Amino acid sequence: MSRVAVVTGGIGGLGTAMCKALAEQGRQPVAVDYNGLSAEAVDKWKAARQAEGLDIPVYLADVTSFESCAEVCKKIEAEVGPIEILVNNAGITRDSMFHKMTPEQWDQVIKTNLYSLFNMTKQVYEGMVARGWGRIINIASVNGLRGQAGQSNYSATKSAVYGFNKALAQECVKKGVTVNSISPGYIGTEMVRAIREDVLQKVIAGIPANRLGEPSEIARTVTFLAADDAGYITGEDITVNGGLYYH
Ligand code: NDP
Repeated sequence: MSRVAVVTGGIGGLGTAMCKALAEQGRQPVAVDYNGLSAEAVDKWKAARQAEGLDIPVYLADVTSFESCAEVCKKIEAEVGPIEILVNNAGITRDSMFHKMTPEQWDQVIKTNLYSLFNMTKQVYEGMVARGWGRIINIASVNGLRGQAGQSNYSATKSAVYGFNKALAQECVKKGVTVNSISPGYIGTEMVRAIREDVLQKVIAGIPANRLGEPSEIARTVTFLAADDAGYITGEDITVNGGLYYH
């Protein structure tokens, strides 16, 4: 049986590419996305995947809620199978310069990007340890590495990923479970391509590769870390940013 790979934010820009790449790798991807989504949006996404020959189930949950994550993981394990790969990809931005940042902007980002790591990982961790195999892959950001003005909330959550990886990795590597992250730079998702053309050109001019990254380049790194023979890589972060910033 194919290993079940849950991707949170699975129907978003990067999540979609990850689901597709995991399917190509022979995994059984499962997209978990926000429970505020309309049934129409979910059906449209599933139909687009079916047109590509892929049957990817979608489950709805709120990654900010421990109970919602517990419920959705229980359902996936009962209906699809044990979760062996978890990609904590769901994330949001609520940008503001710090002097104008509201407690709501701070809380929303911390809960979605950071609490979600605990809320989702906690549901699958013991099963992975008991079975002696697991891959936890967290999506951080170049702006967690270098910081970014206007993103003190977002940068705080993304740099927290590295501490989470390094600590948890030490607890479970001998049980066959690895914990790593990927720090994407500017990737050409709809969100990034929607940036005003002149601003986007300035961003691209600052990237040594002189182009945006492709979602497939992040997805390729997910499958690298999710591979059966990637068990000796743990606590690590891989930057995928066209040379924009290094560890
Ligand atoms: P998208 O907005 O396209 O995808 C994020 C997905 O997460 C959306 O489908 C969103 O649903 C979902 N989501 C948001 N909140 C919740 C929640 N509470 N519970 C469940 N699902 C939720 O973003 P990207 O694909 O661009 O980003 C994916 C990850 O990559 C994020 O963690 C982001 O920080 C990171 N990243 C992206 C970069 C880029 O250039 N695109 C660069 C660096 C890092 P909905 O749309 O309904 O809110």
